[in-house]
Amino acid sequence: ARATSRNTWQLHNEQIRRQTQRRLEIECGLRGALDRDEFSLVYQPQVSLDGWQPPGIEALIRWHWPAGPCHPAEFIPIAEDSGEIMRLGEWVISEACRQAVAWHAAGLEFGRIAVNVSGVQLRDRGFADRVVALCQRAGWPPSRLELELTESALILDSENLRQCFQVFERHGIQLAVDDFGTGFSNLHYLNRFPVKRLKIDRGFVADMLRDTNASEVTQAIIHLGHALGMRVVAEGVETHEEQAQLAAWGCDEVQGYVHTRPLPPREMAQWLRMAQE
Ligand code: C2E
Ligand code: CA
Ligand code: CA
Ligand code: CA
Repeated sequence: ARATSRNTWQLHNEQIRRQTQRRLEIECGLRGALDRDEFSLVYQPQVSLDGWQPPGIEALIRWHWPAGPCHPAEFIPIAEDSGEIMRLGEWVISEACRQAVAWHAAGLEFGRIAVNVSGVQLRDRGFADRVVALCQRAGWPPSRLELELTESALILDSENLRQCFQVFERHGIQLAVDDFGTGFSNLHYLNRFPVKRLKIDRGFVADMLRDTNASEVTQAIIHLGHALGMRVVAEGVETHEEQAQLAAWGCDEVQGYVHTRPLPPREMAQWLRMAQE
């Protein structure tokens, strides 16, 4: 028994060593990656279910790391810890706005462009003013920019956060709560901040047709959002069955593979062109 537990312990140690190594490599790789042009954005439409309205578009970051594939779910938390997220996050906003201006100039119809913003960015002093300045520099109206924030970013209530939201409101910058339902603890912030949209987390959508709990949570989020005068978006919608069920429950918008995977700019433009024909 002792030998077995020693082996387990060694295995565990080896695993930790490897994870630490990977983390360090990513942290190192992220440094200077912006200057080496290693990032790009892909785009995914948010399609309305209540009659035809031009879709919203979410921008998602991709890292073309020479060392190998690395997904945002892996490198974003590391960029948050190292502080790299500050420059990266501002690049995402200006690149998304620049692309939106170009599509708009090409006559493509869409509503807002949405970007993901991490709590670390939000807590940085002057963030809101910089977002407005980035929009203005790109020539994109702030009222057609949406910031997707997670619950954890909104729960920490500070004076700085309140000031941020005042600036957003003054300029019409829209706010969405991302991954809604995964942090379900204190919903106080929904009353305090001008949230326009709730995004139902992909996990609930994936299970809702076969799991009663996921189904109940999904419906409860739709009701809650509507009761508070918000629009509700389901993310990770993969099938027509899922979309039909969400439509029957009154969900306002869907995003997911049922329409398209996130696309590079040129293909996104084609998708928009097809959608408006
Ligand atoms: P998220 O904001 O919740 O984005 C949804 C994720 O689900 C994306 O993964 C998207 O590619 C994926 N997805 C979309 N439709 C479907 C579907 O039908 N089925 C399945 N299985 N997946 C679908 P992605 O692009 O790997 O991004 C992962 C997370 O990384 C995002 O989750 C977001 O939290 C974060 N992220 C991505 N880009 C940025 C960024 O520019 N800044 C920040 N701070 N975070 C970002
Ligand atoms: Ca998002
Ligand atoms: Ca999500
Ligand atoms: Ca997320």
